[in-house]
Amino acid sequence: TETLHIVGGGMAGSEAAWQAANMGVKVVIHEMRPKVETFAHQTGNLGEMVCSNSFRSDDDEQNAVGLLHWEMRAANGVIMATAEEHRLPAGGALAVDREPFAETVTAKLKAHPNIEISYEEISALPTDGHWIFATGPLTSATLGQAIQAETGAEALAFFDAIAPIIYAESIDMSKAWMQSRYDKGETEEERTAYLNCPMSKDQYEAFIDALLAADKTEFHEGETAGYFDGCLPIEVMAERGRETLRFGPMKPVGLTNPHQPDVKAHAVVQLRRDNALGTLFNIVGFQTKMKYGAQTEVLRLIPGLENASFARLGGIHRNTFLNSPTLLDAQMRLKSKPHLRFAGQITGVEGYVESAAMGLLAGRMAAAEILGITLPEVPQDSAMGALIHHITGGAEAKTFQPMNVNFGLFQPVEGLKGGRRGRKDRYKAYTDRAKTAWTSWLDNFT
Ligand code: FAD
Repeated sequence: TETLHIVGGGMAGSEAAWQAANMGVKVVIHEMRPKVETFAHQTGNLGEMVCSNSFRSDDDEQNAVGLLHWEMRAANGVIMATAEEHRLPAGGALAVDREPFAETVTAKLKAHPNIEISYEEISALPTDGHWIFATGPLTSATLGQAIQAETGAEALAFFDAIAPIIYAESIDMSKAWMQSRYDKGETEEERTAYLNCPMSKDQYEAFIDALLAADKTEFHEGETAGYFDGCLPIEVMAERGRETLRFGPMKPVGLTNPHQPDVKAHAVVQLRRDNALGTLFNIVGFQTKMKYGAQTEVLRLIPGLENASFARLGGIHRNTFLNSPTLLDAQMRLKSKPHLRFAGQITGVEGYVESAAMGLLAGRMAAAEILGITLPEVPQDSAMGALIHHITGGAEAKTFQPMNVNFGLFQPVEGLKGGRRGRKDRYKAYTDRAKTAWTSWLDNFT
């Protein structure tokens, strides 16, 4: 059979290699470290965790990332199994001892009879063969340029200015309302595409004070180049002047608050629908480097968001990722060059677990292709399916930004109570349904 080449032996590449090799396909992993370094990796190990040592919640009944753990375990994932072997006590979270973890991942891959590791940088897109590119947020510059030449400059981001994303159900609609600025749009849906949160003068001043006082994170060395091109964090805007935000993302023009039609808002925070289901909203123009704790505190000062639940918080960091909804097909193949697959963070997911999960899918899909097995679509009811569906089509392409797995990506389960009170039952229903769907998809491989 033909060989599968995997570029990058991080979270995604390691898992992809393991999965394909276990299906009987010969795999070569091309990894540039330790010859070429990144600013975040410290070793030459495969599966290195670059920052925190946590795979987040391990609760597979009430948490979407815990569910993803479950699904990866059910698929004999090497990342989850090795994490378990080097687990550290951390309450409900799955924290791991990072060095022995990466050493064990490396050893397992090296020992696999179907896997070979070639320590080299790949700097061009190959013209034939079967390839998975899993080069991550810190994809080397030369390869980044080659990808950009293929996809077009606009389809590959190097900086990720992420605005926070909020669950629609946690927004207080007795204060907020749906309306596009100047009621722009052809259809009723377009005229009500935005959600607006009004602020009085006092509320605005208090918000600016909190923003200026909030704890912020610093840039990593080598990270700042290119960043000031039009994605200023809100706290930097506030530092430039107390009124800057009111003339920027928080301008109160073209909007009428139906709850108080006679009161002119001093400032308005706008949120935009972030997925086709309408369960997630991002705060327009609110990229931020505030620390996570400070961020939730400051953003909950916004009227209507007092009880906001966050599907993901904002951030700004060097992050190479594709505009997957336009570029990739449902099997993560580049539409313009289907012998090239992408996996991991470069496909627009965010986090160790999500990256490994997309590696798992890419590895199985590529191996199936080599072996001539036709696979049905990954069920959207599973966490794996919800995530791959989001990046390859469900997300808004125009505002696409990296995504963590979360229950907002799932089709609602009918007949369950909404709101906060019904949440526990709802999440249990999602996870039960997901496990059944994922298990039956895995049956395609037996
Ligand atoms: P990686 O794990 O980065 O693997 C990509 C691999 O490809 C690397 O080994 C790299 O050396 C190699 N490579 C790159 N270019 C080439 C090339 N041209 N040829 C050959 N090999 C190449 N996620 C979390 O869940 N928690 C965190 O706390 C966290 N902190 C982060 C901090 C920073 C500074 C960064 C940059 C990211 C952070 N992330 C965090 C995101 C994290 O990097 C990803 O979630 C995860 O590591 C991505 O997996 P991946 O396999 O896609 O990429």
